[in-house]
Amino acid sequence: MTNNSSSIRGYRPQGLPRASKTYAEGRVCAHEGCETRLSKYNRRDKCWGHAEMKVPRLRGRKPAAGSA
Ligand SMILES: [Zn+2]
Repeated sequence: MTNNSSSIRGYRPQGLPRASKTYAEGRVCAHEGCETRLSKYNRRDKCWGHAEMKVPRLRGRKPAAGSA
């Protein structure tokens, strides 16, 4: 048993500036039917999947349309 492992990752920046504004907790995505909980640091009202942002296209994978 060694005690060295804790000292390796024992340093954590605790003195972070409290400039980051937080938002209400317990919010959920505004997208209809989506119950994804939003982080209180997320200033959007939708989850990352539904937020109006540039969604990277999935490359190489085509949905199996009509596989049924
Ligand atoms: Zn959502």
